[in-house]
Amino acid sequence: MKKKRKLRKGRILLLVLVIVLFISSLLYFLLPRNYGYRKETIDVFKEENIYNKIMDKKKYSKTLEMVVLSNSFNEEYLDEYLEINYVESDDSFINDINKLLSLGYKSKEINVFYENIPDSISVIVNNRYNSNITNYLNLNYFIEDNLDRYIKYENNDTKFDSIYNTDVIKENYNYEDTVTFVNAYLDRDYYSNDINLSNEEASAIDVIVNKYYKLNENYEPSDLVTIDSKFASNNQRLRKEAADKFEEMAADALASGIKIYAGSTYRSYDYQLDLYNRYVLQDGFAEAETYSARAGYSEHQLGLAVDVLNGDWQYLSENDDEYTWLIDNSYKYGFILRYPRNKEYVTGYMFEDWHFRYLGVELANKVKLSGLTYDEYVARGV
Ligand SMILES: [Zn+2]
Repeated sequence: MKKKRKLRKGRILLLVLVIVLFISSLLYFLLPRNYGYRKETIDVFKEENIYNKIMDKKKYSKTLEMVVLSNSFNEEYLDEYLEINYVESDDSFINDINKLLSLGYKSKEINVFYENIPDSISVIVNNRYNSNITNYLNLNYFIEDNLDRYIKYENNDTKFDSIYNTDVIKENYNYEDTVTFVNAYLDRDYYSNDINLSNEEASAIDVIVNKYYKLNENYEPSDLVTIDSKFASNNQRLRKEAADKFEEMAADALASGIKIYAGSTYRSYDYQLDLYNRYVLQDGFAEAETYSARAGYSEHQLGLAVDVLNGDWQYLSENDDEYTWLIDNSYKYGFILRYPRNKEYVTGYMFEDWHFRYLGVELANKVKLSGLTYDEYVARGV
């Protein structure tokens, strides 16, 4: 008896189990699956006649749910909402992603923005679409504070004047140039953005001076020495380190049958002022601007720049053997050609085949290897 009852009990239990399983699987297949959306969201889906469409996607998206609940749903972006990772924030998140989507950004980009530069979303929202922002972020010299300027510069929404034809330049540049150029302030007019170098900063061998970085009127290097007259026109001075290296370079050149001389080296602020004014009188303002620095903006005031003469005591020309020798060898002595051809817009100066800048051997090697102008090299050195 006892055994039988036990057996019956077991059967009843089994039957109940089967029934429960049957009913739950029936429910599972017959009732709609909501993938975790809240009841109120489901109601809105139904009201908006988008329920089936969303259920077809077979996945839950908190972003989509919040968009719907905040009455900001735009059916056009359904697929994008599904892929955008939700970010806990004030109400701005939903507003901002809708703006980003309407500007043309895709979920992939939007996720990258929120992961990497969440504090700059408003900058992106307030500009026109730019397809390179995710590329900018991959550059180790990307500066988040410059993002607004990168976007505007590349979108041609930056207003600035240039003595060079920037349209031609812009046809050939890429997003790396955008970031480099903006870091170098090229989105601003020359001389409009004075960064005043202290005398201490000016005395660093690697200091950059150009149409954005300005020297004090009273800056004069403390270690100027006169270059050996064997290698210079009369009384040419450079800073000790640069003078030594120039003499060494000129001596080695001579040993290979190449004669070079320092033709113009250190110039004081006042001297540069006179020189620039003279050039303006002689050639007019626009032309003088392409080859002569305004006072305070000249590398010659650093005592680290040298205008080189050839064996005939003429300023060096790219057709001279002396020029070729210098291009091949000067960096070994710490000197680089500072204003190369086709970089006029970047350096602010015409191609000057005679003007070399001392940077120290190590840095000159790096700059030479980079193939960049020193302005670009510095702009990427963040
Ligand atoms: Zn020069």
